[in-house]
Amino acid sequence: MINILQERERQVNCGTEPFRMDCDKHSAAGSVSQRACVFCGSRVVLYPVADALHLVHGPIGCAAYTWDIRGSLSSGPELHRMSFSTDLREMDVIFGGEKRLYGALTDLIGIYRPKAAFVYSTCIVGVIGDDVAAVCKRVGAEQQIPVLAVHSEGFKGTKKDGYQAACSALGELVGTGPTRDIGPRSLNVLGDFNIAGETWAIRRYYERMGLQVVATVTGDGRVDDIRRAHGAALNVVQCSGAMTHLARAMKDKYGIPFLRVSYFGIEDMSKALYDVADHFRDAAMMERARIMVREEVTRILPEIRRLRSGLEGKRAAVYTGGAFKAFSLVRSLRTLGMKTVLAGTQTGNADDYQALRELCDDDTVLVDDTNPLELAKFIQERGVELLIGGVKERPVAYKLGVGFCDHNHERKTCLAGFEGMLNFAREVHATVTSPVWKLIRSSRRETTAAPLDQCGHDCGRCTLPMCCGAPVPPANAVI
Ligand code: SF4
Repeated sequence: MINILQERERQVNCGTEPFRMDCDKHSAAGSVSQRACVFCGSRVVLYPVADALHLVHGPIGCAAYTWDIRGSLSSGPELHRMSFSTDLREMDVIFGGEKRLYGALTDLIGIYRPKAAFVYSTCIVGVIGDDVAAVCKRVGAEQQIPVLAVHSEGFKGTKKDGYQAACSALGELVGTGPTRDIGPRSLNVLGDFNIAGETWAIRRYYERMGLQVVATVTGDGRVDDIRRAHGAALNVVQCSGAMTHLARAMKDKYGIPFLRVSYFGIEDMSKALYDVADHFRDAAMMERARIMVREEVTRILPEIRRLRSGLEGKRAAVYTGGAFKAFSLVRSLRTLGMKTVLAGTQTGNADDYQALRELCDDDTVLVDDTNPLELAKFIQERGVELLIGGVKERPVAYKLGVGFCDHNHERKTCLAGFEGMLNFAREVHATVTSPVWKLIRSSRRETTAAPLDQCGHDCGRCTLPMCCGAPVPPANAVI
């Protein structure tokens, strides 16, 4: 029996009535949100800065929860892969943790000699009131490196507030490095986290167009590059929720314009490159972009067409962190002949959902900050054959016997760029057409007293109205 919680009814839309998504708010009590805490939000953004020290000021559980959380690769140092914590205990909670923080920071900087240090505040630090900024300032002055307080107490908002805390810390770094060798055809890549080497692929595209990439923030990130990022002529922002705050701050402070892009799917990847070339009003750069897109698409299209023939008409659900990725996935699934019947995000805003409504089919269900029960309900109700999400969505898909594609930060496959689109098509095809789902369905039939195929179909979902062609129940119906 699955109901939509009454408090969440305005965060779900089935496309039948005009709406404005009631999002950007704390998760409803009892919803068991798929969304992470403020601290986790800041940790995922800053984690890929590979030559910085990352120190979690709090109990060990917070550090364990976010240790090695992204599959972000580094072309050099790998200090980011170490997880340091002040491991606050009962006596620190009673007497304060500042002394412990000072000692841990001083020791770690002495041992690892990082280019900078980020200190993350967790829930308990907010409760006991440690002056983290003051400790960071003192250690920074003593050690002569930037030591940045990340005000990310887990309880003080949503994951999006964690993005903002991370951007504020990065903003303190930007503007402190030399910019002498930066030319007018230059940009920063914001909001790509180099999962499985994706930032490297994107950097190569821009360099083939004749652009200088000053800083990648934060995928394969380096402190010195971020410090001089204010010398670039343009900020190109992917993952709009995570990095728009920094892009806006740099526009206000340094006058650097920014473009919002996505690197997922043929359409959006090509558009990103064309938009950048268009921004610089450089005909030669635009021509180089066109040639590159033509070459790349010609290379991957035959294989994508072959894979599409096995996917035509299949139904997919998409649940992502930010809205831009959801847009790209809906388009990419269309490229593969698939229909998105359910789409949602953790951090989208009302305008994002309006754009998603216009992009999706009329009967696509939209969900904001969803939970496993709602996901399960709509997956069953809409006959979903593929769920695209992250580590928390994976068990929902497997328990229901549907294919799953990991499109979040733990994955090990490059899904960005043109090569990434081909990898995506292969992953989707492999999971959707896997024979394992038939085995699961037949084992269900064996363990179910009443036969499942009441309507004569061999789909294993025959207790559901849609299997036998009956109308789909309204979103808030009990099934
Ligand atoms: S909610 Fe608080 S205690 Fe839990 S992981 Fe986040 S910061 Fe740590």
